[in-house]
Amino acid sequence: MISEINQLEAIARQLEPNKNQREQLIQRVSAYSQAYLEGISDAPANYAFEDGRGLYESPIAEEGIEIGEALDLLGENVDKSGIGTTSGRFLGYIPGGALFPSALGDYLAAVSNRYAGFFFASPGAVRLENMLISWMAGVIGYSSKAAGNLTSGGSLANLLAIITARDTHSITGDKLARSVIYFTEHIHHSIDKAIHVAGLSGCVKHKVPVDKRYRMDAEALRSAIATDRAAGLNPWLVVGSAGTTNTGSVDPLAEIAGIAADHGLWFHADGAYGGFFKLCPEGRAALNGLELADSLVMDPHKTLFLPYGTGALLVKDGAKLYASQNWDAAYMQDAPENMEELSPAELSPELTKHFRGLRLWLPLKLFGLAPFRAALSEKIQLARYFHQKIQSIDGFEVGPTPDLSVVTYRYLPPRGDVDAFNEMLTKKIQQDGRIFISSTRIDGKFILRVAISSFRTHLSDIDEALNVLKWTAKELAEEGY
Ligand SMILES: *Cc1c(COP(=O)(O)O)cnc(C)c1O
Repeated sequence: MISEINQLEAIARQLEPNKNQREQLIQRVSAYSQAYLEGISDAPANYAFEDGRGLYESPIAEEGIEIGEALDLLGENVDKSGIGTTSGRFLGYIPGGALFPSALGDYLAAVSNRYAGFFFASPGAVRLENMLISWMAGVIGYSSKAAGNLTSGGSLANLLAIITARDTHSITGDKLARSVIYFTEHIHHSIDKAIHVAGLSGCVKHKVPVDKRYRMDAEALRSAIATDRAAGLNPWLVVGSAGTTNTGSVDPLAEIAGIAADHGLWFHADGAYGGFFKLCPEGRAALNGLELADSLVMDPHKTLFLPYGTGALLVKDGAKLYASQNWDAAYMQDAPENMEELSPAELSPELTKHFRGLRLWLPLKLFGLAPFRAALSEKIQLARYFHQKIQSIDGFEVGPTPDLSVVTYRYLPPRGDVDAFNEMLTKKIQQDGRIFISSTRIDGKFILRVAISSFRTHLSDIDEALNVLKWTAKELAEEGY
């Protein structure tokens, strides 16, 4: 038996590279990363024709491969296929860009494998994450009663918010069919999905009309609640947008909060895209009233420019999140009680989790807040600039002045179907790859949008986008599309 164990050990020890091997690995990965980062300014914003299929030619096998070969596979099949989210000319969906120190934070978190689920297991890691949550609560204007959780993204944070609201209002089986949720058609689809996943599909969903700038009509909300209540229904939740993905518009948060308070509803604000604009003066003005929401979501992997994998939920009365998510388990009986800090595992469905605070803490500490504030102001001003410039190009019409940093617009061709033309224009620009834009539908119309939210997007990128749009539209119109 001993000799067999020794044999197994000899093979298993391959899992622990020695110092020299580690240095080689780091050196190769570092060289690859530097080349990638140096290439971003010239790289396309979209790799339209690569699909990553080459990975299948190197299946997972008994024998390992060299790091160089692995990096070649990655470079060819992963990093050169699909959308180029690290490019400053990537203006589709909601960009972020991926701050480099976050990559180092992930590296350090993975090397030390801190268990950030419970305070007793890694007091420092939990304090670090709690400190980030309190910092965000401060940015919003919540008191020290707030609690929250770093999630993998905004969709999961929205889900956790909806579940906390559900548990606080005890929306259970027999109450479902007469319980009403209010939101507008511009709400992010992750809210609808969260309602489904939280077992609340049986609730009545009341779509509140919007004004000309796609913001919730607060008076319509007030009268909808009154009408529903008079009909014997149970209005319990209103979800507002602190920056919609479609158009970047911000619902009248302060008014919604007042109405929700008058009628005893939970008010959840989805600021996955918009929340962090609270860090700059233009954003603070636009997001007035966000601090009045019962819960809110903001995504560091969007407007704090982190690589994908970090969202955040904040709950104004943290005890409600704890009441919804704190659980007992026999095998956890040695964990000391009455800790001075709440733990992520008591505030979310996760038990073992990525120590994701480090990828947020490191860039905030290294850079300080000033460059973040400047970058966010810059994004809002670039959006206003784009909005002004695009309407001065022949043939383009624009949507409303942006509340934050999304601009909607489209081209009106001299003849032919407007929707089909703009769909073609989007495709052509995406295939060209110099810039990346995406589209949406508003009131049934095909609408183009730019979302300016990567820390790498500057004036020259916006000028290039204007240029590409101008000439591609002209070309397409001349082809007589
Ligand atoms: C992106 C987004 C979400 C979803 O967040 P993920 O991080 O993509 O899961 C929710 N709401 C809004 C307004 C968003 O922009």
